[in-house]
Amino acid sequence: ATAPSVMTMNGHFAAVGEAPTKEQYERGIQVIDEEQAFTPHLNTYLQITGAAQSGFNYHLISVFGSQSTGKSTLLNNLFGTEFGVMSETERRQTTKGIWMSNNKREGGSGPEKMADNILVMDVEGTDGRERGEDQDFERKSALFALATSEVLIVNIWEHQVGLYQGANMGLLKTVFEVNLQLFLKDKQSNPRSLLFFVIRDHIGATPLSNLRNTLIADLTNIWTSLSKPPGLEKSKIEDYFDFAFAALPHKILQPDKFVTEVERLGTRFRVGHRSAKSHGLHSDHELEGGVFLPEYHRRIPADGFSVYAEGIWDQIVNNKDLDLPTQQELLAQFRCDEISREVLEAFDAAILPLEEKQAEGVRLGKPTVLKDLGVSGKAARVKTVKAFETEASRYHKGVYTRKRVELEGKIDTRLKALYQGQLAAAHKSGVASFSDAVAGAVKTGQKKGASYEFADIVAREKVVALKQFESEARSLAIEGVPWSNFKQQYNLYEKDLDEVSARLRKEEMRRLATRVERWVRSRLGESVGLEFNKLGSGRGGSGAPETGEKPLTEKDLWDRIWNVFVATVKEAETRFVERAKSFDASQDEIDVGLWRLRRKSWGVLRAKIDEEVMEGNILLKLRENFEDKFRYDEAGVPRIWRPTDDIEGMYTKAKESTLTLIPLLSRFRLAATYAPPELPDWIGNAPASVDPKDEEDLTPIGGVDEEEGKSLEEEMTILSEAKRQDLVVRFKKTADGVYVEAKRSAIGGVAQ
Ligand code: GDP
Ligand code: MG
Repeated sequence: ATAPSVMTMNGHFAAVGEAPTKEQYERGIQVIDEEQAFTPHLNTYLQITGAAQSGFNYHLISVFGSQSTGKSTLLNNLFGTEFGVMSETERRQTTKGIWMSNNKREGGSGPEKMADNILVMDVEGTDGRERGEDQDFERKSALFALATSEVLIVNIWEHQVGLYQGANMGLLKTVFEVNLQLFLKDKQSNPRSLLFFVIRDHIGATPLSNLRNTLIADLTNIWTSLSKPPGLEKSKIEDYFDFAFAALPHKILQPDKFVTEVERLGTRFRVGHRSAKSHGLHSDHELEGGVFLPEYHRRIPADGFSVYAEGIWDQIVNNKDLDLPTQQELLAQFRCDEISREVLEAFDAAILPLEEKQAEGVRLGKPTVLKDLGVSGKAARVKTVKAFETEASRYHKGVYTRKRVELEGKIDTRLKALYQGQLAAAHKSGVASFSDAVAGAVKTGQKKGASYEFADIVAREKVVALKQFESEARSLAIEGVPWSNFKQQYNLYEKDLDEVSARLRKEEMRRLATRVERWVRSRLGESVGLEFNKLGSGRGGSGAPETGEKPLTEKDLWDRIWNVFVATVKEAETRFVERAKSFDASQDEIDVGLWRLRRKSWGVLRAKIDEEVMEGNILLKLRENFEDKFRYDEAGVPRIWRPTDDIEGMYTKAKESTLTLIPLLSRFRLAATYAPPELPDWIGNAPASVDPKDEEDLTPIGGVDEEEGKSLEEEMTILSEAKRQDLVVRFKKTADGVYVEAKRSAIGGVAQ
């Protein structure tokens, strides 16, 4: 809503500084006001009229001429504009300034149709000299019009033609001078303009062609009289201008004819083309087909026009040399930056939700693999660059190319971070599913009881995991963008999978070791238990004749235990190696496994022995041994005691015999050497690859683990001195009990 006071003062005109509402632009926009200020709303106006979206498909016309020669009237009739016109009764001076309006006339149809997006500038109050003012504004507006317009309409009364000293001629002199100044800096592009003379109140007595010749003669004279800047002394008027001429009848005296002629004139505002080499003063005939020759166009994209025009005006007002190429570069920088920001906004809208989703995943410790990220990332990139190209490529090529590279850099920085996050997530989830898949397959294999091939499972799952990652990485690749080749990430991923495989294999080795150890434990439990049980028989010497083995004696108990132990472990080792090889364990891993197996097995044996010699157990064995010797004869027949028997003698003999077992049991010694077995040699040195951190579950073994301060002798001590003595005492008591009972039974037998 506009304040009523503003409405009263300015009517419907949109003047500099006013708030931009569509209604206010009905009658155009004041581009430059009386104070020589440039409007901040020009771009809004161009947007509203639709011209801003036209790219290069727009045209700029300016009108020049003395005050009150019917310029605004002409434009309003030609283009349906509503520029302020001096009222016929008041004859009041219209304001200074430059107004712009879009063409509101359809302008006929077919070949007669006017060009699209014609923008008309009504330059008011140019003719300062008539009012005795300085020519400052006249110069400035001429410069501005020349820097922007394709066609300059020069409005002139018929009776002014030929009056060389006339006001119009002075104005033209200014235009020419200004033009030379302007294009001094811009020799390479040297844009041409069309000076379109419209002769008003043409009575008809003098044909247009005569008027034309007179004007041409005048123009040539003016040009010759100009003092030209250095380097341009030889330049000709036709180097810069083409000329066209038209005459209109008196508007008030011949209103109908005026209207028809204006109508006809309007049809000339079409896009034309030059059919022959006929420039400058002789161009008029060529332009019958349409006044807008492409070479007149200033090549400022419509969406950059307001910035460009403002920059030009700023330089003019500040009396700087107008340098159009530099202006165009500055404009290109400004606009390319602006367009870049716009397209990045759309890019941002597409990418930000993905970035947020990814960040959320990271925050929660669950990196997300975003679905179809490659597709959406690529689409956003292409769309953004394309949108930039469409708008920005109309500007200065060098600047555009540079800004495009900048834009791509910005896009790629964002995408790169996003893609790396994606691959990090794919990496993490890939490794996890690989690890799960292997573990799952192992479990299934175990459940089925069938022997599963660990190496095969790993190989199979690795192929799956690699394929998945590769396809994700491939989907992210952008053609021609080197950073989007994720070979390095792929290699890292594969390396990680191998590390996981190694860890899983290690676990598998542990499981295997546990199984083998369990087997060793159960085998030793049986066989060692059996050896100790044999102690219960006092006739251990009689052995097992049916198997044909060497007769066993109590003395080689430890030899037998050692042998059975070594044989059992050997068998376990064979099983272990066979299985470990099946899952591609390295020799190193196997060596470590075997070393651990031997150590653990010794522990198992040692524990089993300790269990056998536990107080109650061993005492029972000794008692059995003694009773066997004492209560049975050589043939194994139980003795019936008689009073005549030498009970005491037999008791002593059996007791002494059993007592010899105690020192034997106390030390693990081999019969041949009367020394403990070479346990350290048998276990062997720890392989170099053993990590002490992994070996905490191993109990130290005296004589093997030097640091433990326990000797091999101590390791092989089964019963301590104290325990031994205690055992002797207890055994004797037990034996005594048996003896007393035998004695009693002998007497009792007689009594019966
Ligand atoms: P500007 O100052 O050049 O824009 O002139 P205006 O368009 O405001 O018109 C100034 C005066 O000239 C107005 O009173 C118009 O009615 C009058 N006028 C407009 N067109 C013509 C014309 O073709 N012939 C004559 N004699 N007067 C005209
Ligand atoms: Mg006017």
